[in-house]
Amino acid sequence: MNNARRIEVHKFGGTSVGDALRIAAVARLLRDLSSECGLVVVASAMAGVTDALIAAAAAATRGDRDEGAKLLDAVRARHLAALAQLHVDGEPEVAAEIGRIVEEVTDLVRAVAHLHELTPRTRDDIVASGEKLSVRLLTAALTAVGARAGAVDADTFLETDDRFGEANALMGVSDRTIVAALRPRLARGEIPVVTGFCGRAPDGATTTLGRGGSDLTATLIAAALNADEVTIWTDVDGVFTADPKVVPEARVIRQLNFREAGEMSYYGAKVLHQRTMIPVASSGIPVRTRNSFAPETEGTVIDGRITPGSHPVKAVTAVRDQCLVSVEGKGMAGVPGVAARLFRAIANAKISVTMISQSSSEASICLAVPGERAIDAEQTLKREFRADITRGDVDEIVARRGVSLIAAVGLGMAQTPGVAARVFGALARRGLNVLAVAQGSSELNLTLALDHGETAEAVRALHAEFGLDRIDTGEDSAQGFDLILLGCGKIGRALAALVEERRAHIVERFGLDARIVAVADRTGFLLRPAGIPASELTAILDSKSGGATLASRNDAVACVDPAAMVRQVLAYRLARPVLVDVTDGEDTAEALLEALRSGCDVVSANKKPLAGSLERFRGLVDGAKASGRLFKLEATVGAGLPVVDTLEMLLATGDRLTRAEGCLSGTLGFVMTRLDEGAPFSQAVAEAMRLGYTEPDPVADLSGADVGRKAVILGRLSGLAVSDGAIEVVGLVDSALSARTPDALMDALCAYDAPLARRIEKARREGRALRYVARIEAGRIEVGPVEVEAAGPLGMLRGTDNMIVFTSERYAARPLVVSGPGAGVDVTAMGVLGDILRIAGERRPR
Ligand code: ADP
Ligand code: ASP
Ligand code: MG
Repeated sequence: MNNARRIEVHKFGGTSVGDALRIAAVARLLRDLSSECGLVVVASAMAGVTDALIAAAAAATRGDRDEGAKLLDAVRARHLAALAQLHVDGEPEVAAEIGRIVEEVTDLVRAVAHLHELTPRTRDDIVASGEKLSVRLLTAALTAVGARAGAVDADTFLETDDRFGEANALMGVSDRTIVAALRPRLARGEIPVVTGFCGRAPDGATTTLGRGGSDLTATLIAAALNADEVTIWTDVDGVFTADPKVVPEARVIRQLNFREAGEMSYYGAKVLHQRTMIPVASSGIPVRTRNSFAPETEGTVIDGRITPGSHPVKAVTAVRDQCLVSVEGKGMAGVPGVAARLFRAIANAKISVTMISQSSSEASICLAVPGERAIDAEQTLKREFRADITRGDVDEIVARRGVSLIAAVGLGMAQTPGVAARVFGALARRGLNVLAVAQGSSELNLTLALDHGETAEAVRALHAEFGLDRIDTGEDSAQGFDLILLGCGKIGRALAALVEERRAHIVERFGLDARIVAVADRTGFLLRPAGIPASELTAILDSKSGGATLASRNDAVACVDPAAMVRQVLAYRLARPVLVDVTDGEDTAEALLEALRSGCDVVSANKKPLAGSLERFRGLVDGAKASGRLFKLEATVGAGLPVVDTLEMLLATGDRLTRAEGCLSGTLGFVMTRLDEGAPFSQAVAEAMRLGYTEPDPVADLSGADVGRKAVILGRLSGLAVSDGAIEVVGLVDSALSARTPDALMDALCAYDAPLARRIEKARREGRALRYVARIEAGRIEVGPVEVEAAGPLGMLRGTDNMIVFTSERYAARPLVVSGPGAGVDVTAMGVLGDILRIAGERRPR
């Protein structure tokens, strides 16, 4: 049937043909497309015209002739004005056609006013004329731009059943008549411009396919002609994660599966008519939705591909004006056939059911039907169950009006546990009451009935819960792995270099393309959602080390609150975002919490937020769990050494830690080794500073504050409730020294030279060595200088190496030792990269 030439079907919604300017723009777009392929165009009525026709019919039904006539005059005037603006040849003929169509409707409306009765058949005849009018205008506009086009009324060939107002195409029959009507035109090189929304009943009467039905006209035609593609042009950029008019932060979903799109349209995403997908899904003809006001944007493509992506739920939709009917009774439990009788009765009354939910006790069955069928449904069921009510098997039949159905839709839901719990949690937190729930057996959607007044809030709640404001289901970033660098110091620079160096490896190993999308310092942030190119990143970080601040760049955003920065960055569409905290001792707890709450994983090399208040620590760890995010902090202790990993492994296998003891400071390790070698303390410290081992303020190392933080983190990770202050730290020097200038500090340190040399000497005589040790044992944490056995593991430790010795029930006689380089920029950056890769392993596409 298909000849070699490509065929595309393009459907334009009401706003896309809303006035002469739009119609002319559409005509030019189609003319350009027509040089490449055969086109079939489907048009809706001009925006508002269908509503006006419905209103005219309703006025006539009330007997109000004038109102009907006035509305129709306005419809005629609007079309004639648009025609005049189009400046087409043959304007008088087109104007006559428009006049004829409006005249026919006026006759019908007059007849309705006379009879005070409007049959569904006449109603369809009236409302279908909107499309007949718009198609005349679009055809004229196409001709005016030099294309060959011809108007075709679908009620001359598109065969449907006789369910007026909601007609179905007669499959098998309509395919043949569509081909017969359109193929010859295509073969002549003509663009058929077909009226959307309507068809022809078996007796020849005009039918309509339901509001918004032009979408379905387009896919029916595409399936019959075996077209290559359908494009639905509308007034928004594609299919969004929720109605953008309800959720301002909704995003375009770039790729959807037929089933997802079908489910979304069925549950209220007005952008596609409910049944749009049915004709094309089986033949796999892709459907695009695009914005006719912004044809340069890519839109959404709907096809057979399955890309669950990183988000289990892709969209939240709502159908309003539903009625919930429930049949309740204890006598129903275990009685077979109740459900069957109920659905047969509803089906016989030709009422479509939008949702079914049965309680597990079988004591009630609840179904939703469109609001306008509420009375029918209630009466039908009362009739069907009259005898059961008399017997007392059924207690009552209750109809609740003013209900909305909210659906969470996404193919990824099936593989993701806990989606329902999150849905209920999110609604409950806002005090929204769920009336009934249903989950399709495909697990493609979860549908909830709520009171009408709560619709918008519920949609927004679920949209936020699943992070859909940041969804990226676009095919090109199915591999995205977006890193946000908080902090631009030495570690940040080393990490950026490492990420770039290992990029190919990460793609190969995890199928993810790691890119740094944002960098932030104390003054502001720079964001490039598509990734900051490596060379640019290097330049930025180099200028930072020269003292420049990010806020001073004109492409950066000034912001001094890290939590606010995180919020702003995460407002962008990022893929698998990871916040990496490499700030130097800043209090970033709020920022980390914000990230976790917004669906971002976190890696921290910064001890400050974890070693402060216990509530804060728990808030972060529990917050990560509660929001299903990963929180990694290996680099906070022992830089790149697997200290946290080993501890977590021990605990995960059910082992119990009895003691953890070790040297956790590279700086102090270096100083102790130099003391062993006979160097004076002040000189050892000066060397450590020169070699870049110390913290920017060396007193943070020498006073034990830094080791203390590491010990607190380890203690907390091992399950101790370490409140801040509940740890004993004995420093090598007084922490008050930190206020001194570098020279004054050196002078002050000299005072420690002699006493420390004596301590070292005394220890040596006893076969021992002085080490700066953190010890976690029996619920206590002690940090300070300790004399250890010179021949033991800690005594043998040299230089900046770290060591941690875990003693547990399993590792009792011979403890588990982790040792190696534990200080320095490079190994710390390596530790951070390790955490990032652990996250990559968890988040990789499956
Ligand atoms: P047309 O007249 O082009 O057929 P419609 O009004 O029928 O346009 O459909 C487009 C409208 O659908 C949008 O303006 C938008 O408000 C609404 N809509 C509802 N849900 C969604 C969604 N999930 N994605 C996009 N648009 C949606
Ligand atoms: N014009 C009809 C309506 O407004 C059909 C359509 O737009 O698809 O519902
Ligand atoms: Mg529509």
